[in-house]
Amino acid sequence: MNYIDTKYISLISLRLRNFTKKGDYLWNFSCPFCGDSQRNKKKARGFVYRTKNDLFYKCHNCSHGTNLSKLIEYVDVSLHKEYVLERYKEGLTSSGQGDKTPGAGIKNPEFDFKKPVFKSFDGLKKFSELDESHPALKFLEDRMIPRDAWNDIYFCSKFFEFTNRYVPNKFPSLNGDHPRMIIPFRKEDGTIFAYQGRAFGNEPQKYITIILDKECPKIFGLDRLDTSRSIHVVEGPIDSLFIENSVAVAQSDLRIPQYKDKVVLIPDNEPRNQQVCSQIQKWIDEDYSVCIWPKGVEKKDINDMILSGKSSAEIMSIIHSNTHKGLQAQTVFNSWKRT
Ligand SMILES: [Zn+2]
Repeated sequence: MNYIDTKYISLISLRLRNFTKKGDYLWNFSCPFCGDSQRNKKKARGFVYRTKNDLFYKCHNCSHGTNLSKLIEYVDVSLHKEYVLERYKEGLTSSGQGDKTPGAGIKNPEFDFKKPVFKSFDGLKKFSELDESHPALKFLEDRMIPRDAWNDIYFCSKFFEFTNRYVPNKFPSLNGDHPRMIIPFRKEDGTIFAYQGRAFGNEPQKYITIILDKECPKIFGLDRLDTSRSIHVVEGPIDSLFIENSVAVAQSDLRIPQYKDKVVLIPDNEPRNQQVCSQIQKWIDEDYSVCIWPKGVEKKDINDMILSGKSSAEIMSIIHSNTHKGLQAQTVFNSWKRT
């Protein structure tokens, strides 16, 4: 992709309804192929986006996908002739295999849209790389998040805009965009398949989880997990950073069927929370090992226990001596609910 491509996008923009530039290489407008839509003229589900060095078009309504050249041609045939000529002059149309036909060498789209494969976030800094005086550092310090974890937590100054790069139109309006810390969910090989954005302030949604590959089970910590040992499962990625050989599932249902015999499910310490209690009952019924926090532990989650002065080792030891299953779990759970 080069300046000619971006120039011609601006040139056709006048003929595209609801045209907006969403990011560095992301444009959004109403799809000219399907009309998008006949009933609601505000719909805009067509996107021009970048993969490697080329720009492609995809509509999330009619699923039409094509390359930039074909889109320009569809919108304006005569403008398309100029586009092809201009690219030809720049030597951009040669396929490198002796084919000098204008238009040859403009690649067909590759739709790696749904499954981006990457191990780092373009343009984001790790917390470990931020300047000492950066105000966001205080957040990790205040929560006593271990230093080695700072290497894989990122600072994002505009969460909506950042997310739209990976999931076009996830946040149709950038109003109220704000900074978040980003925690990547990685597969065993380190590839990022999801991430969680945690707000620094009082934004209505404290956590927002963005899924990039829906086929991956939503488990944080797979890249560090030893599946030959027992696996500690918590809800929050931050809590998991304090617990050895642990994963987080970013939801209140902690079950992981594929590791059922290995997992210890560690719910938040909320005996009065009806939703937590009905989850735990389900786990016990299904014969999972469950940690039921003993009386005397007053904090609600693991991070709060750390902040109240407990060490990771102390918390591990509490977990180990309070993990039960079957009938024993049921008995302990019945009395815990009543505390
Ligand atoms: Zn369409």
